[in-house]
Amino acid sequence: MPPMPAVREHVDKMQTRQDKADKPMSAPQKAMRRLGLNSDMELALHLPLRYEDETTLTPIAELRDGDMAQAEGVVRESRVEVRARRQLIARIEDDAGHTLLLRFLNFYPSQQKLLSVGQRVRVRGEVRGGFLGREMVHPECKAVQAGAPLAQALTPVYPTTAGLPQAYLRKAVGRALDKLVLDETLPPQALQIWPGGPRVLADWPLHAALDYLHHPRPEVSLAALQDRSHPAWLRLKAEELLAQQLSQLQARQAQALRRAPTLALGQRGGEAKGLHEQLLAVLPFALTGAQRRVSEEIARDLARPSPMHRLLQGDVGSGKTVVAALAAAVCIDAGYQCVLMAPTEILASQHVKKLVDWLTPLGVRVAWLAGGQKTKERRETLEAIDRAPQEGGAQLIVGTHAVIQDKVRFHKLGLAIVDEQHRFGVAQRLALREKVMEGGDAVEGGAKQPVEPHMLMMSATPIPRTLAMSYYADLDVSTLDELPPGRSPIVTRVISEQRRPELIARIRAQLAEGRQVYWVCPLIEESEAVDLTNATATHAELTAALNDAPHAAPLPPEGASPALGRPGGGGGIQIGLLHSRLPAAEKQAVMAEFVAGRMGLLVSTTVIEVGVDVPNATLMVIEHAERFGLSQLHQLRGRVGRGAQASACVLLYSTGDAPRLGQTARERLKAMAETNDGFEIARRDLEIRGPGEFLGARQSGAALLRFADLATDGELLDWARQTAALMLAQHPVLAERHVARWLGGRVDYLKA
Ligand code: ADP
Ligand code: MG
Repeated sequence: MPPMPAVREHVDKMQTRQDKADKPMSAPQKAMRRLGLNSDMELALHLPLRYEDETTLTPIAELRDGDMAQAEGVVRESRVEVRARRQLIARIEDDAGHTLLLRFLNFYPSQQKLLSVGQRVRVRGEVRGGFLGREMVHPECKAVQAGAPLAQALTPVYPTTAGLPQAYLRKAVGRALDKLVLDETLPPQALQIWPGGPRVLADWPLHAALDYLHHPRPEVSLAALQDRSHPAWLRLKAEELLAQQLSQLQARQAQALRRAPTLALGQRGGEAKGLHEQLLAVLPFALTGAQRRVSEEIARDLARPSPMHRLLQGDVGSGKTVVAALAAAVCIDAGYQCVLMAPTEILASQHVKKLVDWLTPLGVRVAWLAGGQKTKERRETLEAIDRAPQEGGAQLIVGTHAVIQDKVRFHKLGLAIVDEQHRFGVAQRLALREKVMEGGDAVEGGAKQPVEPHMLMMSATPIPRTLAMSYYADLDVSTLDELPPGRSPIVTRVISEQRRPELIARIRAQLAEGRQVYWVCPLIEESEAVDLTNATATHAELTAALNDAPHAAPLPPEGASPALGRPGGGGGIQIGLLHSRLPAAEKQAVMAEFVAGRMGLLVSTTVIEVGVDVPNATLMVIEHAERFGLSQLHQLRGRVGRGAQASACVLLYSTGDAPRLGQTARERLKAMAETNDGFEIARRDLEIRGPGEFLGARQSGAALLRFADLATDGELLDWARQTAALMLAQHPVLAERHVARWLGGRVDYLKA
């Protein structure tokens, strides 16, 4: 136990490592491990949250109400009083004869002992009162000799956790800094091309920068430390970005040396058309220019003997699915299997429907793999996946993350496609990579090197340039920057919850025209159960509102879905409810009704967020829009505007008890109304949320930048990219050392 109540500052949950040591660890050691502080370097990189100034002593007479200050005096009086509650009160007197009262509402015997009459103590805390008597409540106290030296630097206060006192952590960090030898890993040219001039980095070698950040001089500008613009901070950020860029470049170089099947287009001779061409012929539309260009980029990669690792990004509705299908066709035509994985069952089943429609008439065998399948069906599917495509095995496998489970064994996997890849967690992405590796052909043509499948990742959340450069530097990126023709832009309106009745009238009008409507229920953090209650209540409310109120209804116009209910017309409107707790079969049944146009209104939780494609849906209502992230709102909004009809998205906000919507919340919703451009929205979202949440990798603290901030450090990132290329070419040893120092065992996470 520390003598005083420890200053305790919590940090977010951080990654812990497997506990391998057999030797019993002390509680603080365990706590350090929980924080991921397993090495001297990790400790040195554990930077203070803030600093305390113990470098000066203030005479008691000069203490002012509200000051954080340090004073010193001799204890003249110390007693335990029982008033409302038991408390320890001590009075100290400084050399000038002024006194200060110390008050402890909770105290340990050790504190009582420390504050015994005659003892000289140094105390630090917030000053209260003035004329009538100054006091400090729960100050930090330590016994000192008269004339004991003061701290020369500011005292760091570290992020810590239960069971890990600041004093223990300070010592551990101090020892680590003493032990660490950090030779310069940056070559001279790297210092030369630094945007702030060559001296900045040269004057702040890594060790000096770390020392400084742990123990800054009292005269430092705390603002520069706070906003991370101090040269010591720049050094740290630059090194971190460099490590990341180096590891990505290394991964890329290693990849070029690995082998993959060459999946070439149009290998057939004579009259017979390749599957790719046949698919193009049966599609109900012509490809957009962007789809054609991107498909060619992918086909070129597939024909190479090293594995493709490509990200296909395109705004919602840009038509990624067909690009995936064309890539699959190339792969299947070359005699290999292709797997397509989607993050939700609804999305996966929608894909499978589309792909079955397109590809089975061309003779392709498609297998479906998801959660709740029947044992027999599942066994047959697994068996088909494990059989050679040439012998009747599955050629295209579509499913949820069920496709990466242990039991699945691909016979001869040539291409893996991941839809909405940012929705998968880091662990799942790593698992997929492993699965994909073992799915490749062990050896081909007698060569000893394993053959590994190509990978295509798709994302509708466009990744801003800095983020792509930083986290996906080992990926090639293809962008669909054009929407299919004939789309009318979605009009977005932000309206208050109080205008619900107007909104319901509008929904009624849409339904009367034969259009379909989505209503997304509020998201309630951490509680699926509450989400469900909400959705159920909303469903009941809308059912009552839309089916009871009698009014004249026009007949649906030509071309609209015929079977929709007619408000007030007797038949009633079919209103569906969709949420994640529904059994898979029921979810699909509800979705099928909506897709077929028999259901006019679909009330749902965010399960419809990704991928769902119903072109006849023209109105999207998002309740409590202020609770959603921008990219998520954009995804949801992307469910409408998929056909030729004008579509709208209504962001309904609730001000609750507050008279007005908060400033930031309003700005965010305004941004949504202002732009339909997914890239712009992603950029703003990154600013608001930071890359961690943006990448959906909350658990993988290890993979994320800790010091640099991509929203503001773009210039440093450019430097790191240039330097990484230079170092790999000319200073491979330094490069190796730099990556080992910074990333240690965490390199894997950067590949996910
Ligand atoms: P996303 O990129 O969001 O996954 P989808 O692949 O779901 O988009 O495509 C959105 C809609 O656009 C689908 O209905 C799809 O059939 C249609 N589509 C795709 N490409 C074209 C095209 N070139 N011309 C017309 N419609 C297209
Ligand atoms: Mg999609």
